Amino acid sequence: MRIGAHVPTRGHGPIGAIESARACGAEAVQIFGSNPRAWALPRIDRARCEAFRAAWSESGLGPLFLHSSYMVNVASPSAEFRGRSRDLATATVALADEIGADGVVVHSGAAGTTTPRAVALGRAVDTFTAVASQARTTAVLIELMSGGRGTVASTLPEARELFDGCDDHPSLGLCLDTCHLFAAGYGLDAADGVSETFAELRALGLEDRAGLRITLET
Ligand SMILES: [Zn+2]
Repeated sequence: MRIGAHVPTRGHGPIGAIESARACGAEAVQIFGSNPRAWALPRIDRARCEAFRAAWSESGLGPLFLHSSYMVNVASPSAEFRGRSRDLATATVALADEIGADGVVVHSGAAGTTTPRAVALGRAVDTFTAVASQARTTAVLIELMSGGRGTVASTLPEARELFDGCDDHPSLGLCLDTCHLFAAGYGLDAADGVSETFAELRALGLEDRAGLRITLET
């Protein structure tokens, strides 16, 4: 097991992650691919990406994940924002492929409380399928959210629905955040609850697709 952290890049782009990871002793790393609170697409400078790849493989760090901007909402009720979300997530996937990142974390989406669930699910499926179809070697990791406000997927059966809708696209993976799972009702504070969660993951055929992101309060 490798212990990692979400680390700042301090305005230097991905290369800044190496120094930040070393400073906090992280082995695996998550960084933002672009400003998390803006729609701006990540900048892809081929020479800098090449330099990063070389420095990263030298560093012995990994795996590396990009978290997409918080603006991305794959199930937004607004067609305009869904389109912008698709484009921003796709651009983050392109950066991930360029720097050799292992995956891009994308939230499962929230449709608001007035959209029927089937409609919201369909929108999320369309967006995830479009983004995943652009991935070359990186994975698109659906992050289950804690629920509420029309969240498309916060439980494992809901994740299964998304995978089914996307025909189990080979580029899709699952990001399980322990904080979100716990808030969604999974009893991760007890050994039985942890066993039951993993049993459910296996029963749904999601075990090979999933990575666990353990959230610690700092
Ligand atoms: Zn997230």
